[in-house]
Amino acid sequence: MLNISACVFVLQYFDMGKIKKFVIGNWKMNPIDADSAIEIFSGVRGTAARAKETRTIIAPPFIFLNTLTRMGNDKNISFGAQNCYFEEKGAYTGEISPTMIKGMSADYCIIGHSERRSLGETNDIVNCKVRAALRNGLTVILCIGEAERDAEGVYLGFLETELREGLASVTKKQLPQLLIAYEPIWAIGKSAEKSCAPRDVHEMVILVRKVLKDIFRVNAALEVPVVYGGSVAAQNTEELVREGNVNGLLVGGASLVVANFCKIIEIVDAL
Ligand code: PEP
Repeated sequence: MLNISACVFVLQYFDMGKIKKFVIGNWKMNPIDADSAIEIFSGVRGTAARAKETRTIIAPPFIFLNTLTRMGNDKNISFGAQNCYFEEKGAYTGEISPTMIKGMSADYCIIGHSERRSLGETNDIVNCKVRAALRNGLTVILCIGEAERDAEGVYLGFLETELREGLASVTKKQLPQLLIAYEPIWAIGKSAEKSCAPRDVHEMVILVRKVLKDIFRVNAALEVPVVYGGSVAAQNTEELVREGNVNGLLVGGASLVVANFCKIIEIVDAL
């Protein structure tokens, strides 16, 4: 099993200066209609465009993606899908391919979100999706996260497996197209009691970087941005980013409330 504290010393001294900051809004299956989607995006775009050090990525439901990307490509703002299929086209009822997502001018794709894994998405399926998305020029936001923590640290092995299996056959050349989102399942959504403690987030960032370095064996693996997600709000943004040492945040519920999401973007950008 990985010894996290032993990794801290080595990894702290790599230059993370090239990494940009990210704020990703995962709208999930919200809002209910296109007018509301336009309203939320219109409320956020000015703040996001002004946040020069931060890339804001909006991941709405597929059905609103085209409408929003057509509103214009502001600087510092990108769009992402919340999922994709691993084939380009064909008899796959209800699925959307990476090529179609690219065709809608979206550049990112969230893959392996726990809410999809809970519907039966395995690490193998996640891996097929990751490879298909990368092949088609999308940047992948690969979500990993444990359902619970145990005193023996079994969850660390679980996270390592999610990374190794999710990234199987991904090449070193594709590393610039990769972001990792650490999202502990117990910290996600309305039923969560709290977000992960910033200190624990930092440990997981170190774990992710260590595993990526082991898999890819190049320093570029240490430049893969790692973001945190799970009960992010304006109130905990600063400590999560500063003490958690993440390259940004994946925001669920709070990304639908314009004032909250704008505040989160501003705080991240100012750090
Ligand atoms: C998420 O679903 O990715 C998420 C982080 O949700 P929330 O911010 O609502 O906990």
